[in-house]
Amino acid sequence: MKNVILLGATGSIGLQAIDVLSQHPDKFRLIGISFGKNKDVAKNIIDNFESIKKVVSNSDIEEEYQNSNCLFFRGNENIKQLITMEEVDIVINAISGFAGLNASILTIENRKKLALANKETLVVAGQLIKNLQKEYQTEIIPIDSEHSAILQALRGNDYADIKRLILTASGGSFRDKTREELVNVTLQDALNHPNWSMGMEITIDSATMFNKALEIIEAHYLFEIDYDRIAVLQHNESLDHSMVEFIDGSVMAQLGYPDMRVPIAYALSYPRRLSLKQDQDFLNISKMTFKKIDQERFPAIKIAFAVGKAGGTYPVVLNASKEVANQLFIENKIKFLDIEKIVIDSLKNHQVINNPTLEQIYLVDQETREAIKKVYN
Ligand code: NDP
Ligand code: MG
Repeated sequence: MKNVILLGATGSIGLQAIDVLSQHPDKFRLIGISFGKNKDVAKNIIDNFESIKKVVSNSDIEEEYQNSNCLFFRGNENIKQLITMEEVDIVINAISGFAGLNASILTIENRKKLALANKETLVVAGQLIKNLQKEYQTEIIPIDSEHSAILQALRGNDYADIKRLILTASGGSFRDKTREELVNVTLQDALNHPNWSMGMEITIDSATMFNKALEIIEAHYLFEIDYDRIAVLQHNESLDHSMVEFIDGSVMAQLGYPDMRVPIAYALSYPRRLSLKQDQDFLNISKMTFKKIDQERFPAIKIAFAVGKAGGTYPVVLNASKEVANQLFIENKIKFLDIEKIVIDSLKNHQVINNPTLEQIYLVDQETREAIKKVYN
C-alpha cells in the first residue's frame, strides 16, 4: 500500500489521477491534496476519500469542515505540510505552471517519489532539478504522455544505443490553419482541441505549439539528451505517444488511445503496470499519419531549440512570457499571434544568466512577468 499526495487535485490531471486511485484502493491511499480555488470539486474529493488527512488550498474550504479530523491549511506556501508527512511515498505534482516548481523541489528534498505532470518544473529549472535528484537519490517519473512513452520505449535498452527521441505532436486546435487564418482566431477556437481534453493553459499551449516547445526542453533534461537528438513529428491521430529510434534503425513506440490515465497509472506503478478499464480496438484505427513540422508555420518549435541550446535563464523567460501572454489572450487584451510576439520580444530583451540559482530563477520569472504587464495592463 502506497501513501499518495495529489497536488492540483481539482484540475484535469488531478481528477484523472483521482479516477486511477479510485480504481485501485488496495494499492494506493490518498492522504493529502492541494488545490487552488475550486472548492466545489475539492469537496467532492474530500467527501469521497476518508483517508485524506490534510488539505492545502487558497480557499476558505475549512469553514465547511468544522467537525472534521482532517487538517486544513490556507495558502499554497503550506504545501510542505503535505510533502513532509513521514508516511508519504508518492507525490503527484499536477499543479499548472511555474507555481508547481516549489512542490517538485520539496518532494525531491524529502526523498519522495515524484510523479511529475508539471512539466514547467524541468523547463525552468532542469539542471538544478537533475542535480537535486542525484543528490537526494529520488525517482522522477513523467506523467506527460510523450515522456511517459519514451520512458516505456527505453525500458530494457541502453541509453548509449539511442539515436534520437521523436516527440509526436497533435498540432493543436489550429493545425489545419495557415498563419494568415490565425490572425483573428478566438479563445473559444483555441480551446477546441481535436484529441485531448485538458486544462486551459496547456490547451492554449497546444494551439500555439508552445506545449511542444516546453516538452522539447523537458525531454532534454529528463533523459539527459542533446537537443540535436530530439526530433518532433506531427501526428494528428494522437495514437503514437512518442518514440525512440535506436542506432540499428529500430524504433520503439508506445501506442494507445489518447487517455492521460495511462501515463498517470504508469507513473504511480512504475516499473510495474496497473490494470485500467481500457480496450484497444485496432480494427477501428483507419490510419496513423506522420508529417514534418513546418517551423515557419509553428515558430514555437524553432524557438524551443534555440532557447534550449542557449540554456541558462532563457527557458525561464520563455515559460514566464508565455504564461503571461496566455492570460492576456484569455482576458481578450491581445490577439492569438501576439502570444508568440510577446515571447519573442521577452527573449530578445533578456540578459541571460548561466547556471542560475533558484533565487535567480524566481527573480527572472518575476521580472519577465512585470515587464510584460507594464506594457499590456
Ligand atoms: P488545470 O488547470 O486543469 O489544473 C491545475 C491545478 O493546479 C488545479 O487543481 C488548480 O487549482 C491548481 N493550481 C493552479 N494554480 C495554482 C497555484 N498558483 N497554487 C496552487 N494550485 C494551483 O491543469 P492541468 O491538469 O491541465 O495541468 C496540470 C499540469 O500537468 C500542467 O503543468 C500541464 O502542463 C501538465 N500536463 C497536463 C496534461 C493534461 O492532459 N491536462 C497533459 C500533460 C501535462 P484550482 O483549479 O482549484 O484553482
Ligand atoms: Mg504532452
